[in-house]
Amino acid sequence: MTDATAYAGATAGATADAGADPAPVDTWTRTSSGDPRGYIDAHALEELWIHTGTACNLACPFCLEGSKPGDNRLQRVTLGDVRPLLDDACALGVQQFSFTGGEPFIVRDMVRILEHAASLRPCLVLTNGTLPVLRRLRQIERLRDCAHPVAFRVSIDWPDRARHDAGRGQGQFDLAWQGLLALHERGFRVSLARQSEQGEDAAAVDAAFHALCARFGLPEDLRIVSFPDFGNPGCRRDVPEITEHCMTTYQDEASRRAFMCAFSRMVVKQHGRMRVYACTLVDDDPDYDLGGSLAAALSARVMLRHHRCYTCFAYGSSCSER
Ligand code: SF4
Repeated sequence: MTDATAYAGATAGATADAGADPAPVDTWTRTSSGDPRGYIDAHALEELWIHTGTACNLACPFCLEGSKPGDNRLQRVTLGDVRPLLDDACALGVQQFSFTGGEPFIVRDMVRILEHAASLRPCLVLTNGTLPVLRRLRQIERLRDCAHPVAFRVSIDWPDRARHDAGRGQGQFDLAWQGLLALHERGFRVSLARQSEQGEDAAAVDAAFHALCARFGLPEDLRIVSFPDFGNPGCRRDVPEITEHCMTTYQDEASRRAFMCAFSRMVVKQHGRMRVYACTLVDDDPDYDLGGSLAAALSARVMLRHHRCYTCFAYGSSCSER
């Protein structure tokens, strides 16, 4: 992990003399009011996420990864980059590999990566389902022959063409449904990721999606995973801080074990090397870089300091389908 302790107002060699700089504040393990910060200790590596890079064919303004064409905040991975980590994860007992981007299918090695990953464990791929998928359907079909199944989750923000296309670009709504249907027709399990907003009637929104599923020839009970607005990378949201007390008062053992950082990690390629982050939501903060080794990253305590941690704490947000 990079220096996990941020110091404010500290000067090397400072003393406690009157007039000296204030004592350093450990914002990693303490909240702004000095209380012990809430944390998660992982109990297992059940799921390993692989970030394929922040390059995408789309440039959605709300993207929590800031992905867009040509973006390389997180670099595109190759089979050579990820193979050792997939193998290490198996030795640590991983049960599933999940892939996110950017758009995974603009990565040249993606199908080869999935062929290797699915020879080891079941896989889930998050995709926008548009042209990068539609253009590679012949290659993607090969994944049906793998030892383990490959499933796909396609992002369709709203059950409304105009609203979806306002964020993703003209024609993207129809392309995403086309991709979802093409994957389903080829025998892959598919699910759908949508956005959520405060005060929504979640059942009504899901019902509108399921009606669309029926219209497009998809199962009417298709699994839908909804996500709040996480903000762009690097943004700061004014949310309540999570203390140790919060984690024992408002959470119990079972709910703590359901936090993604309790059972998964995410690997990314950054500055030409593979790194392990605490989860899929915190790769914009180097304090959540837990090193280059999965085993070491698994034993690192994860402090709940990122503003997105609050969505896990308050709403149970999770990218996982486990
Ligand atoms: S965003 Fe959620 S899963 Fe990630 S480190 Fe924070 S609490 Fe854990």
